[in-house]
Amino acid sequence: MALPGKEPVVAQVASISVECADCGRNRWWRPDQLKRFGVNGNTPLSALSGRIVCSACRADGLPGTTISIQAAFIDERQRVRSEAQMLSDREVPVEGAGRG
Ligand SMILES: [Zn+2]
Repeated sequence: MALPGKEPVVAQVASISVECADCGRNRWWRPDQLKRFGVNGNTPLSALSGRIVCSACRADGLPGTTISIQAAFIDERQRVRSEAQMLSDREVPVEGAGRG
């Protein structure tokens, strides 16, 4: 979904799901919990899979790099909120206008 020249970065996501294909573990991380992987707000989402490893697999001596990343964008929450606001601000039709 990345637009050319405007790659989504960690600062745009509310939380990140990391699923390990090797052991099946799945957990959600907040962006600030990813700092220990060298991830900050400017890290492109496409770079996450190269940085995050499954700690459980590492403990077993496996690479732990067969992970899939899913991101929940902050924008989606904002969109829902603005739609709700639009509904409450909807103009009320004026009755009686146009009568002589
Ligand atoms: Zn694993």
